[in-house]
Amino acid sequence: MTDTSRLAVVTGAWRGLGLETCRQLAGKGMRVILTARAADKAAASARALQAQGLDVHPHVLDVTDGAAVAALARHLGEAYGRLDILVNNAGIFVDAYPPAAGSSVFDADFERIRQSMETNAYGALRVARGLIPLMQGRGAVVNVSSGMGQLSDMNGCCPGYRLSKTALNAVTRILADELKDTAIKVNAVCPGWVRTDMGGEHAERSVEEGAAGIVWAACLADDGPSGGFFRDGKPIPW
Ligand code: NDP
Repeated sequence: MTDTSRLAVVTGAWRGLGLETCRQLAGKGMRVILTARAADKAAASARALQAQGLDVHPHVLDVTDGAAVAALARHLGEAYGRLDILVNNAGIFVDAYPPAAGSSVFDADFERIRQSMETNAYGALRVARGLIPLMQGRGAVVNVSSGMGQLSDMNGCCPGYRLSKTALNAVTRILADELKDTAIKVNAVCPGWVRTDMGGEHAERSVEEGAAGIVWAACLADDGPSGGFFRDGKPIPW
């Protein structure tokens, strides 16, 4: 079934889960704005999907850059007058990873913790604030989070990534509550451990499997859940 009436934006989308999310959303017939911080990478990835017959358009967006978010909002407003789906996918994992020195909360580099918060939590919040007004009371926001942000399963190591994904989960709850009188659904999704540049080659899931749960949350019906945390379309604890 195709859906030519919906417009989606995906952040950090020139590779990995973001790119596959664009492919799956566009495969449903939607127009998808594939964003990346490098113009040439956005253009090349969008071209590759266009070559598969998909309605995908590139746009530059660094989620840490407020002016870039405002420019994208202006472009969407002028070109389409609306937005239906926002997937906050852009993310970084810059912690030292065990058993490397610096992976403990006691000796982790504070600058890496700040960078993680700036991209993974504040970046998503910044984009949501800029683009949700274009949704005109109806649509879906998906924050691509991680099991490493679950307070119910919080462990040591990688404090930048963990703190930033827990904060992203809080952003999800705050937005969902403030939008509860609208038909805009805001949910967090853990894609599982996925074989991407971030997840590495030994991860258990394919990029197609990981993106499917993101696309599920992006395509919820108007009366679908909001303010939840999901993996594979099923609720998981915060
Ligand atoms: P990748 O490292 O393959 O992709 C991350 C993407 O985010 C890249 O396109 C990167 O672009 C982009 N990005 C980073 N910083 C910015 C920024 N400031 N502005 C815009 N884009 C940016 O990782 P994945 O595809 O695996 O990850 C996608 C999401 O899924 C992330 O949020 C991640 O935390 C989450 N996730 C992944 C898991 C996994 O196992 N792979 C598990 C759980 C969650 P650039 O090349 O410019 O840096």
